[in-house]
Amino acid sequence: MLEEASAIAPSSNLEQEAWDAFLRCVHSKCSRTAYQNWIAPIIFVEMRHGIITLQVPNVFVKEYLLDNFKAELKAFLPQNSKGEPALKFVIGSIKAPQAAPAPATPKRECNFQLNHGYTFERFIEGSSNQFVKSAALGVAMRPGRSYNPFIIHGGVGLGKTHLLHAIAHHISIKQPQLKVHCLTTESFVNELVDHLKKKTIDKMKRFYRSLDVLLIDDIQFLQNRVNFEEEFCNTFEALINQNKQIVITSDKSPALLKMSERMIARMEWGLVAQVGMPDLETRAAILMHKAEVRGLPLEPSVAFYIAERVCSNVRQLEGVLNLLIAQHRLLQQSVDQTMVQHVLGGVAGVQSPIKVTADQVLKIVPPMLGVTLSDIRSTDRRQKYAQARQVVMYLLKTLVQEPLYVLAAYLGKTHSTVLHACKTVEKKMATNPSLMRLIHQARRRLEQEGGV
Ligand code: ADP
Ligand code: MG
Repeated sequence: MLEEASAIAPSSNLEQEAWDAFLRCVHSKCSRTAYQNWIAPIIFVEMRHGIITLQVPNVFVKEYLLDNFKAELKAFLPQNSKGEPALKFVIGSIKAPQAAPAPATPKRECNFQLNHGYTFERFIEGSSNQFVKSAALGVAMRPGRSYNPFIIHGGVGLGKTHLLHAIAHHISIKQPQLKVHCLTTESFVNELVDHLKKKTIDKMKRFYRSLDVLLIDDIQFLQNRVNFEEEFCNTFEALINQNKQIVITSDKSPALLKMSERMIARMEWGLVAQVGMPDLETRAAILMHKAEVRGLPLEPSVAFYIAERVCSNVRQLEGVLNLLIAQHRLLQQSVDQTMVQHVLGGVAGVQSPIKVTADQVLKIVPPMLGVTLSDIRSTDRRQKYAQARQVVMYLLKTLVQEPLYVLAAYLGKTHSTVLHACKTVEKKMATNPSLMRLIHQARRRLEQEGGV
């Protein structure tokens, strides 16, 4: 419950003493900055009908108090029938006799370089990464209190670093009082070497052990570096024992890392989540999203065309996008299938799309569209048949590797009719999600049942 305060006179009695005792306890438990920023601005107002009224400068202070010190509140202050602290909050800024120092701007104690584009909002979700993204969000919202340690593993270019930074961003914005440190394992090792040389290792230990959140990227770098691993493991244990959050990324699952059993067991204590290769739809969505962020107009059909061919990782997808942007800006070319074909021709490792035969398309697709092959071959102009015919032509052109005049001949049409049909379908797909879905369903069926 939160109300706007006008002028409330603070009370001084036994309950006030209980509140003071609570404050002393909290003071001993949190950092000076956190205390000054989050606890000192709270004012005990009164106790009435078994409920204590506290005045807070804003709703965040209330949330901070309840999130972090509920157990202590229950221990020192009365509880309601549900066993929760019997508290009522009012927002206000009047000065009370025991008024604490004015709330200072929370200090951000994060001394690391984060990629500003790596946020949760910019991480596109699909079936391959839904679980890991929700777990990462859970960790970001309740550091140290949900999954600890949290391990993200998966192949190169699939978004591990993106998620790691997203967690760091989220915590440093929502809970700026926490001391967050995000770095690569390589930097950790370099730092360790430096401190060993300068004989200042105790300083480094003190720093790491004072953190609230440690995020460390690419732990596989510690493989076969036994001494460094041991130092990291000690830091890890010291933090975990104080319920401080640890997030680690790795290119393989902990069990497959060439590290000590002690370290592997520690990592397996927590939640181990894998990022996988996004499916076709997610890859297309990532491309569309990144193109939009960078101001490149990209038709959905072209995004799918690329996503079908670039399937090894998201980083490669971004590489293709960079080439398209360069081509678009420097040569003033619009990004269509012809331009994309040209660009993809020069990219190593681009896979040809699923290969199917015309027979497979003609057998599988018409029934999916609720028509027969003779309807497709006919000249019936009613909308249902005309659209189905266009879709079949589009799929023949985009999936079957035969010359256009041969494809046209399968349906008794001319090659310009096929070309026109393809353009119409591409245009319609941009504004008609159900047509887009239909075409992807057809592609998926062909992928499963067809293939040569
Ligand atoms: P990893 O650390 O797994 O090698 P990164 O996190 O560096 O991969 O990701 C490579 C690139 O792909 C980054 O630019 C990242 O933003 C992008 N990326 C990966 N997955 C996604 C996703 N699901 N949504 C948006 N961008 C993604
Ligand atoms: Mg990475």
